[in-house]
Amino acid sequence: MDERDLVGKVKEAEVVEICRDLVRLQSVNPPGNERAAAEYVAAALKKTGAEIELVKHGDARASVLARLKGQGKAPSLFYNGHLDTVPVGAEKWRHDPFGGEIAEGRIWGRGTADMKGGLAAMMAAMKVIPEAGVSLQGDLILAATAGEEIDSLGAREVAKMLAGESIQALFIAEPTYNEIYIAEKGVLWVEMETFGQTAHGSMPEKGRNAVLMMVKIIQEFEKLEIPYKTHPILGGFTRSINTISGGVKTNVVPDHCAVTIDMRTVPGQEHSAILRQVETIVEELGRKDPDFRAAVKMINDHPSVETSPSEPVLQKFSSLVAEMTGKKPVWKGANYFSDAVGFLPVLKVPLILFGPGEPGQAHQPNEQVEISKLAEAARIFTGAAARLLGGRRDL
Ligand SMILES: [Zn+2]
Repeated sequence: MDERDLVGKVKEAEVVEICRDLVRLQSVNPPGNERAAAEYVAAALKKTGAEIELVKHGDARASVLARLKGQGKAPSLFYNGHLDTVPVGAEKWRHDPFGGEIAEGRIWGRGTADMKGGLAAMMAAMKVIPEAGVSLQGDLILAATAGEEIDSLGAREVAKMLAGESIQALFIAEPTYNEIYIAEKGVLWVEMETFGQTAHGSMPEKGRNAVLMMVKIIQEFEKLEIPYKTHPILGGFTRSINTISGGVKTNVVPDHCAVTIDMRTVPGQEHSAILRQVETIVEELGRKDPDFRAAVKMINDHPSVETSPSEPVLQKFSSLVAEMTGKKPVWKGANYFSDAVGFLPVLKVPLILFGPGEPGQAHQPNEQVEISKLAEAARIFTGAAARLLGGRRDL
């Protein structure tokens, strides 16, 4: 069977059904509750003959690791989609967010784009290959992971289970509208606190005002030059002070103030060096004023990721996408981070983000995925597994 025949066996109705089923199995995180969705994935893939492990994270949460065994003659290929979604939000939706309704050629609901649609497309690929009697030279691994929206709990656990395995690439089905994303910005979140002394608001001279201390830090931070080189795909480094809190009452001098800063880094920047620059601000203010007390801490830290354009697996996948879509892919990058942050520190493999959802749909009200894109993604994941894993028909 050639690749084209195999890809032709992907059934759009089946991909659509899997996506709708997953949407109906609510897995809003927090709290997660991915267990039911994980059991659904496990049961669906078990029928393909894949080896299945349900990876439990407490009673209500689980991830799935499925492996379609190949002949051990090629490195494995690793597909990943996360099971959890963000909450629905306060705005009223046009369709039930957990209904998986179909209208206007789309499936509507929380997680359709980010990324139950992508996961459904990967599952359909894993199903069609053995159904068509195609055997692979290497293993096709699929992990459906819990916890991506908060802490990549499932990815970190699954990464440990795959440590040491020879894997040619990690594909994550985040919403890219079937475009190839080969880089992710890094994330560095920092919290800064100042500590003063409280006093009655009518006698400010008796206290030490923590909010005024923070104002000094913010002024210095905004002047701080943090070096970086603009990345051809990801663009530049960004930073933004996004929360501030301090004080309890209008007639009380505040003894505490805190801010958090969201920084998005590009390849070449060391997070420890940036943190050092921020700490230096506080140290210098402390030198000028012995009463100045402040602390700086990192609250989220994931380095940027990029896959080299010369990576053979990326070249092969790009030509496959070009053949199947008739368009030459333009490589892009993501400003957000994915479960790659849970996998890559352990697995160190090339990363490709590719999925049917539109990036702009993620975390939005009225989230939806186009059925034509969903089916196209399922065909591409099927074709990619066959090509990268040397699929052959058993006679
Ligand atoms: Zn996502």
